[in-house]
Amino acid sequence: MALRDALLCCLWVVWLGHPGLGLPLAPARRSSPAPAVGQFWHVTDLHLDPTYHITDDHTKVCASSKGTNASNPGPFGDVMCDSPYHLILSAFDFIKNSGQEASFMIWTGDSPPHVPVYELSTDTVIMVIANMTTTVQTLFPNLQVFPALGNHDYWPQDQLPAFTSKVYSAVANLWKPWLDEEAIQTLKKGSPINSAFVAPAVTPVKGALQKETNNPGVRLFQYDPHDYKLLDMLQFYLNLTDANLKGESNWQLEYTLTQTYDIEDLQPKSLYGLAKEFAALDSKKFVKYYNYYFVSYDSSVTCDELCKSFQICAIMNLDRNSYVDCLKHYYLKHNL
Ligand SMILES: [Zn+2]
Repeated sequence: MALRDALLCCLWVVWLGHPGLGLPLAPARRSSPAPAVGQFWHVTDLHLDPTYHITDDHTKVCASSKGTNASNPGPFGDVMCDSPYHLILSAFDFIKNSGQEASFMIWTGDSPPHVPVYELSTDTVIMVIANMTTTVQTLFPNLQVFPALGNHDYWPQDQLPAFTSKVYSAVANLWKPWLDEEAIQTLKKGSPINSAFVAPAVTPVKGALQKETNNPGVRLFQYDPHDYKLLDMLQFYLNLTDANLKGESNWQLEYTLTQTYDIEDLQPKSLYGLAKEFAALDSKKFVKYYNYYFVSYDSSVTCDELCKSFQICAIMNLDRNSYVDCLKHYYLKHNL
């Protein structure tokens, strides 16, 4: 899934590469002369649903809707479904033809669909990851990709073992072109190196009980090639409703982080300052944040005090204990 999932499902990934080390650096294109910056893409949560197809019986559009009606299915997908291949291809096509020069791509996994355990198998999971890997390798034969496994890249999902497995050896094979020998061995042995990434999903799917979902999104990061400091982040998105109506995809820039929030860069100090601004009563920046949280899916959606407490506590706290503590404090302070 996509939203809470952006916070939960992909927080812990098996990190296999060493981004930024000894990579060729390409300067970004800028309209005015500026110091060269490095760029990289972050793509995540493709969640391919191979069963997706348009049919009159809306309960049968995709297995990932789990028998509930698809909402308004079109060629680029539906909010009740995981990604059709067409949507995933449109995301990678956009990246390829965006005119942005990137030195590498981070791909944090989660390729299989959200379906009950018994509808998948080790072989299906491997097949889906293989499909996505081939897609990326075919479209970007010369791009360094740093891949990672998400919690859905295993069968049964969430059960990634800390020892060898059929999935790990298959994936190590598939990812050989991107990984050095040490990383391949680490992957085969199931020795996880955890790392946290939060980003919008490509899949637009939501659960039957969720009110909101996200438009498909991808991120482009800018960094200082001298010290690899993160400078900025550009989020691009697809308006799914529009794309389905027109029958064509028009991925576009949604926002640039430093400009939207008027901050210096993406250093911890700047981001911490921003988070504190979000927490302030009636923060306009938080309203923007909440719209982008759903990747501009529905700008009329509002976040009340209780909703805001969940958001602020999730932004400011990474581990469960401090998150729960934060919520308790928020409840007391605001008499919720
Ligand atoms: Zn996911």
